Amino acid sequence: MSDEATSSGRITIYDRETKESRTVDWGPGHSLEYWWQEGNGHCDCNRGLYFWSEKETEARCGHSRYVITHVDGYEIDFEEWNSGWEASL
Ligand SMILES: [Zn+2]
Repeated sequence: MSDEATSSGRITIYDRETKESRTVDWGPGHSLEYWWQEGNGHCDCNRGLYFWSEKETEARCGHSRYVITHVDGYEIDFEEWNSGWEASL
């Protein structure tokens, strides 16, 4: 993943288990809110994909590990982006 900002914006995901974050492009044309709030991105298994390049980990389906902490252009409402995850661990 590049560290250069792009016009499409970026999203930061935090791994509560390893305490690492990844900031990634969500990509142009992506249905950002739907994908992360209701679609496949609303599951640990898909959020975990962004961590697999450096960690050999197999994220399970669920709502406990990977939380969204930042989205370019949005004020993060935890419940909105991470509904199902506990607000604090
Ligand atoms: Zn899943």
